[in-house]
Amino acid sequence: MRVLLALGGNAMTNAEGRARPEDQIAAARVAMAAVADLLAHDVEVVVTHGNGPQVGNLLVKNELAASVVPPVPLDWCGAQTQATLGFVLVDALEAALAARGVERRTAALVTRALVDPDDPGFTHPTKPIGRYLPADEAAVLVDHGETWEDRGEKGWRRVVASPEPLEILDAPAVQALVEAGFVVVANGGGGIPHVRDADGTLRGVEAVIDKDLGAALLARTVGADVLVVATDVPHAVLAYGTPDARDVGTVSVAELRAYAGEGHFASGSMGPKVDAVCRFVEAGGRKAVITDLGHIVEAVTGEAGTTVLQG
Ligand code: ADP
Ligand code: MG
Repeated sequence: MRVLLALGGNAMTNAEGRARPEDQIAAARVAMAAVADLLAHDVEVVVTHGNGPQVGNLLVKNELAASVVPPVPLDWCGAQTQATLGFVLVDALEAALAARGVERRTAALVTRALVDPDDPGFTHPTKPIGRYLPADEAAVLVDHGETWEDRGEKGWRRVVASPEPLEILDAPAVQALVEAGFVVVANGGGGIPHVRDADGTLRGVEAVIDKDLGAALLARTVGADVLVVATDVPHAVLAYGTPDARDVGTVSVAELRAYAGEGHFASGSMGPKVDAVCRFVEAGGRKAVITDLGHIVEAVTGEAGTTVLQG
């Protein structure tokens, strides 16, 4: 059985969302202990991960250091976080595997994802990233060609394109590594966004791909049987945050799509996870689950969290 496991931001920062290196390493240890428990079963695992807080930190460094060292574009920031989180995760995973006497080789892959240059996000960016700035500081970055929006009391915030991932360009390398027995960490942050020019040349672009939608596409591309979206809540919840809140257990895609249509899942958080699990099963995947790290073994081998089944 082949499993695609998508780790949320909480798997790479502490409970308060702090992302000092030691917080990230400690969080990776917790997450990779759960992955090692899963690998003790006879499964192939591909891991992907979010990178929001890490990219946020790099953007602050870009801003503060711009007069000393050249700022790097958003696709570079994405690549840098894939590499850093990749080695942190495989270090933690290898230690967890050794502690369990499980022998697996690991690899982290810098992974590119194709997007459409005509995606509406490039003309009307909607995805907020980075920190809030006062109007005068935001104005400097607007002069550098960035899009910033006035968010009232909190200040101004940068918005970027969040294009649909069309193809995981390095999926064949993921596939080859999995077939050679590696546990692979790939497509972090949804993949490094790329467009293909008319002459066929690929080039990185400034955008942020949703990590859960990237995970669903990678899962389909490498022929995963199961997609697990691991976050910090054990279930998707109806009427979330109200006295009528109800966990969603095992449902059909049609039911989950209907709940989404009723507006139960927030667009910046649970919404894309629900979309990702639905897409995976609609495209022929056997099973997709949204749950927390503590339930990933059950999610794969039994029943846990919010589960969508084929048929
Ligand atoms: P991650 O960082 O793990 O990718 P997010 O923080 O983006 O995940 O999304 C998970 C969060 O979504 C939960 O912590 C919860 O606060 C929020 N959320 C919003 N709507 C819902 C819902 N309907 N059911 C469950 N959680 C929800
Ligand atoms: Mg989060």
